[in-house]
Amino acid sequence: MPMLSVQPKGKQKGCAGCNRKIKDRYLLKALDKYWHEDCLKCACCDCRLGEVGSTLYTKANLILCRRDYLRLFGTTGNCAACSKLIPAFEMVMRARDNVYHLDCFACQLCNQRFCVGDKFFLKNNMILCQMDYEEGQLNGTFEPQVQ
Ligand SMILES: [Zn+2]
Ligand SMILES: [Zn+2]
Ligand SMILES: [Zn+2]
Ligand SMILES: [Zn+2]
Repeated sequence: MPMLSVQPKGKQKGCAGCNRKIKDRYLLKALDKYWHEDCLKCACCDCRLGEVGSTLYTKANLILCRRDYLRLFGTTGNCAACSKLIPAFEMVMRARDNVYHLDCFACQLCNQRFCVGDKFFLKNNMILCQMDYEEGQLNGTFEPQVQ
């Protein structure tokens, strides 16, 4: 959390962002370093992080705003098909409460992939193409689902 403080009397602090002395009356203290108000900003989108109430995140020497941090290092959840983690910046497919890697989103019987707009069915938590779904209905493969 950045803190706005008044420049202490005496020696001027150096800014951790631009390495110049901070001559302003106010300076920011964050991550145990001092910053110009304009120098503490997100490495991705350049938004200022010194504003009161903003939270900054650090990772791998980057200073990031919350939005970019989540985009880069957050996770969306676990893929319902392969159960591996899905990083937040990756495109996902969603079906009901489940999320899937794009590569994992295929009919689990015939492996047919789906394009946007294609019909798919979710039965007993399995993704199915229309053909396999209808076949399963006819053969009574599926457990009857109690609502
Ligand atoms: Zn600076
Ligand atoms: Zn940002
Ligand atoms: Zn997956
Ligand atoms: Zn299929």
